[in-house]
Amino acid sequence: MDKKVPNKVVEGDDKTKKAKRVQKKKVCQFCVDKVEHIDYKDVGKLRRFITEKGKIIPRRTSGVCAMHQRELTTAIKRARYMVLLPFKAE
Ligand SMILES: [Zn+2]
Repeated sequence: MDKKVPNKVVEGDDKTKKAKRVQKKKVCQFCVDKVEHIDYKDVGKLRRFITEKGKIIPRRTSGVCAMHQRELTTAIKRARYMVLLPFKAE
């Protein structure tokens, strides 16, 4: 009884790209909280979606869905106008 061990030729295995990108599951924070309308007065929340320089973090980074990103940009712009958020941080 000799079992045939399949000879696995591992070739080209090291050719696989070393894509070491940690994929965190991005879930829209607003969808999780079931926020339908983003309040521009909620600066604490809005601040999490702007950079230190006061720029709005792009969707692909923050993981916010398209619908909420739209709401978010409007809210941030409104908040800026109301001087709740800076246009540009020094
Ligand atoms: Zn969403």
